[in-house]
Formats: sequence, structure tokens, C-alpha cells
Amino acid sequence: MSNIIFLGPPGAGKGTQAQLLAKELGIPQISTGEILRKAMREGTKTGLEAKRYVESGALVPDDVVIAIVRERLQEPDCANGYMLDGFPRTVYQADELAKFAKIDVAIELQLADDIIIERLSGRRICPKCGATYHISHLKNGEVCENDGEKLVQRPDDSEATIRNRLRVYQDQTAPLISYYKERGLLKAVNCEGTVEQNFAKVLEAVNG
Ligand code: ADP
Repeated sequence: MSNIIFLGPPGAGKGTQAQLLAKELGIPQISTGEILRKAMREGTKTGLEAKRYVESGALVPDDVVIAIVRERLQEPDCANGYMLDGFPRTVYQADELAKFAKIDVAIELQLADDIIIERLSGRRICPKCGATYHISHLKNGEVCENDGEKLVQRPDDSEATIRNRLRVYQDQTAPLISYYKERGLLKAVNCEGTVEQNFAKVLEAVNG
């Protein structure tokens, strides 16, 4: 059983790698960003509360995301392990998480800022199922391969908001790298290669 955290700047490929690893290991991928976007689409109370933070690239208040994760980890599909993608993002979140979960490994995905901006500004998502694409790899034009929906840009993928998210990452989330290092749980993976190359390194980090 493995309880895995993915750390790393926006655009490093946390979501993509977590999705692949979830399939490989048969454990759920829990993405707080995805849960928040779904809540926003559905207009729930949490969604309405989160909207202005997400759209400006700021972090949603700790207590909101902690409650989401605490609840989600109680679902039966988490009994044999899970992967957290995008959580924790602050030292406070990590301290709270430690009170209700035992983390086995934290994988840090590393990527330079200029590559991050290129990746995120070319990212398109399906507004219906949440699948992500990059404009340089589209096979069907700007429509989703799963459901034919027209792809859109995430409102927080504009260049100004991306820069803000990178600043927020440096200030609030990067301290988690030493947090997990000090606890002997950190494994770093350089993510400048292709999705497949990076995944091979992620697997090595998890198994090693
Ligand atoms: P990315 O990693 O590309 O920035 P995510 O989908 O993980 O994208 O997150 C999108 C947004 O959702 C964040 O910019 C933030 O506003 C909010 N969010 C997601 N996870 C958290 C979290 N753990 N704490 C606070 N805010 C979060």
C-alpha cells in the first residue's frame, strides 16, 4: 500500500503523471484542483467560495481544501493507497494532513520556469470531462477525444495568472520540499523529458 504525494510547480505535469501512476498502481488520484473546478462548474457552496481564488491564481483557504481531502480519504477506494495531486500546498496543510494520513513518499517534479510558461499557456482542457491537451499535440483540432466537446483555455492559464501561480508556488508550496526531505520522504524527478520518459523516472522513484 502506498500513499503518495505529488509536489512541484504548476505545469510540471503533476496531473498527467499522477493519472498514469494511478492506472499503473490501481489506486485513486485525488486532485484538489480538479475537485475545486468540478465544484465551481456545479456551483456548490465550496465552488462559489473557491472561484475568486482559483481564477486569480491564489490559493483557496487551507480549511476549505483540508476538509475536501479529509472527506475524500474516507472513501473506500482509498483503503489500499492513494495519490494526492496538488495537496498539500502549504506547510499548514501538510501538518494537518499528517494528523489523518500516513504519507509514504513525496515525489517532487522539477521543471524550469520558461518551460512551465510555454506548457501552461498552450494548455487546453475539456470543459466537460476535464481532460487536458497541449495545442502542439492536438489530433482532432480543438475538440476533446473523449466526448467531442470544444476545448477551452483554463481561465487561470493566462500568462499573468501563470506568473502569479509560480510566485505563490515559490512562496507557499516550495517550503514543502525541505519539509518532506527532513522527514526522509522526498524523491525528486526532473520532468524536462517526454511524458513517457518522465513516467519511467516517476515509477523508479516510487519503487526505489
Ligand atoms: P496547477 O498545479 O496547474 O496550478 P491545480 O489544478 O492543482 O493546478 O490547481 C488550480 C488552482 O486550484 C490553484 O491555483 C488554487 O487556486 C486551487 N487549489 C488547488 N489545490 C489547492 C490546495 N491544496 N490549496 C489551496 N488551493 C488549491
